[in-house]
Amino acid sequence: MQISPTPTHCPYCALQCGMNLTPAPDGTVEVSERADFPVNRGALCGKGRTAPAVLSSRVRLTSPLVRSEGALVPATWDEALDRIAGGLRRTRTEHGPDAVGVFGGGGLTNEKAYTLGKFARVVLGTSQIDYNGRFCMSSAAAAGMKAFGLDRGLPFPLEDIPRTGCVILVGSNLAETMPPSLRFFNELKENGGTLIVIDPRRTKTAEQADLHLAPRPGTDLALALGLLHLVVAEGRVDEAYVQERTAGWEDARAAAMAHWPEYVERITGVSVPQLRETVRLFCEPENAMVLTARGPEQQSKGTDTVGAWINLCLATGRAGRPLSGYGCLTGQGNGQGGREHGQKADQLPGYRKLDDPAARRHVAEVWGVDPDSLPGPGRSAYELLDALGTDIKSLLLMGSNPVVSAPRAAHIEERVKSLDFLAVCDVVLSETAALADVVLPVTQWAEETGTTTSLEGRVLLRRRAITAPEGVRSDLDVLHELADRLGVEKGFPTDPEEVFEELRRASAGGPADYSGITYRRLAEENGVFWPCPAGPPDGEDTSLDAPGDDGSAARDIPADAHPGTPRLFLDRFATPDGRARFVPVSHRASAEEPDEEYPVLLTTGRVVAQYQSGAQTRRVDELNAAAPGPFVELHPRLAARLGAAEGDPVAVVSRRGRAVAPARITTSIRPDTVFMPFHWPGEGRVNTLTNPALDPTSRMPEFKACAVRLETVTS
Ligand code: SF4
Repeated sequence: MQISPTPTHCPYCALQCGMNLTPAPDGTVEVSERADFPVNRGALCGKGRTAPAVLSSRVRLTSPLVRSEGALVPATWDEALDRIAGGLRRTRTEHGPDAVGVFGGGGLTNEKAYTLGKFARVVLGTSQIDYNGRFCMSSAAAAGMKAFGLDRGLPFPLEDIPRTGCVILVGSNLAETMPPSLRFFNELKENGGTLIVIDPRRTKTAEQADLHLAPRPGTDLALALGLLHLVVAEGRVDEAYVQERTAGWEDARAAAMAHWPEYVERITGVSVPQLRETVRLFCEPENAMVLTARGPEQQSKGTDTVGAWINLCLATGRAGRPLSGYGCLTGQGNGQGGREHGQKADQLPGYRKLDDPAARRHVAEVWGVDPDSLPGPGRSAYELLDALGTDIKSLLLMGSNPVVSAPRAAHIEERVKSLDFLAVCDVVLSETAALADVVLPVTQWAEETGTTTSLEGRVLLRRRAITAPEGVRSDLDVLHELADRLGVEKGFPTDPEEVFEELRRASAGGPADYSGITYRRLAEENGVFWPCPAGPPDGEDTSLDAPGDDGSAARDIPADAHPGTPRLFLDRFATPDGRARFVPVSHRASAEEPDEEYPVLLTTGRVVAQYQSGAQTRRVDELNAAAPGPFVELHPRLAARLGAAEGDPVAVVSRRGRAVAPARITTSIRPDTVFMPFHWPGEGRVNTLTNPALDPTSRMPEFKACAVRLETVTS
């Protein structure tokens, strides 16, 4: 019998590439091209192509594990769930609800993120919930909220990129992090547009650029201010746009005018002629875009840094217009949806604020609880992890591996070990799961149905393609069973569509309104862009396209249904008066600058064959062969000073610890900077070194710049 392929999406990054999955007779799963999904048109990177290997990995967990006499041993589901419920209940009774923490992940589906937030607030009554997406794009989210009144990664579809005139890509190595997206930038260049890449390293993405600027890590804010200074000095401000569509220009202008190009050159290392050329290339076309990623965002001044790039867009009239705008390239598979539906410390579903009385009333009514029973905002991700073992005694963790991915990771590992009780849901025994008292084996992407929201704000349906192995249950099952054991028998369905129906009601009327989206629409339309309220759009439709994201008309959808919103802000921004806000910002140093003792800058990032903490991709032979371990990328001059040759083990030492990895010597990095990827645990774990200095608004740690010294290692 011929088995028809199931159209679905990749489990990894925020591009959420479409793919077809077909179960093979030998129990494996075949990936095939899914050309109807317009974002990747069938193309996949190596991670997506090999994703099924994790489904049948020999290290896949298929039985709950409980700690007994120091070791994790197999247990029944009832035993394991009882242990978790008992551990959480005991902490709550002895220390109060806020002594129980919950930590989620940007890879969880919308249904899971929503249910996890509800579980924390309704069942546990704790305010202490956050997720690893805080480490991913929260500075861009905070800057977007300040400037536009709304945070959606991209306010336009990727398909707009080839038709604009110039793109400045700030701190994104998308040729490695999301390779299929590179075609949009190649098409931009084929159409005569210009690509400017800003990155301290000459990455594979920078190699594609018409102009590459390599600022010192941690100086993107000064760079953006210097560009805005030149925009003003050269008379390139779009005065009519500033007058009509923005507020706060004079203060932002004054701040930028204090950043002379020569001053900015001294801070960033980018020459004045390069600054002038950037301004020319950005301002001459009719349309242009700025896209940021982790480079400018993972800084202790990330919100201001992104704000400075938004100011540049606003001053030149490049926001809220067709084919122009600012966008953030979100990282994790559901980084966007994960922050919209309640697993973030300060949020309720629909991107509502937890401290907004009207939002609390609305969501409490959907949940059938008293609004006053909902706790207030809790700690951000790093602060929550830092409080483990002190204020927070027990932790329930889903879809995250902070022992590898959190900054100052050796300290966080100690905090995790000092917990009274740790329960982890995962598909493999990650480095964090290995420390748990109870580990629950859960289903993976291809074994369950659910929705994600891509970096475009496109809500997508991931369909179940195969049956999960025996012994494995979904995260929704886990939360249902735990709620039941903790005395809440209703309100935690295990059917993802039932959860989504509730999520629709909870999000209705909120900034991220999903109420007009149904599973049926998602299946038929190949995704729907939020906001998509139930019913037809009010007044003029701001979505330019037909509902089908490939340009085709939707099938079987009521004619008066809201079509979703591919493009935001074309008529007005989401602020009370409809105007975007300039935010005056000034350059400041990173939390830790090089000095005599630690004279070199360390920056971190990803490689094409691994994903995040590597919990899944390190289990795939093909990916391990391509990227077997960490390395220290350094310039030949720095290597010569150190006396290190290619492949020599190099110790990188910061105020927080020491990591060792082989030298990779290349002229593609600045001589004052070293780079390490963050996918590995153990001796080469770069997050042992990184600085947890937090942005004051987004509470995002400074992964991208800290001071280190290098040492040779003798064996
Ligand atoms: Fe998956 Fe991202 Fe690779 Fe696409 S680019 S296949 S979504 S990891």
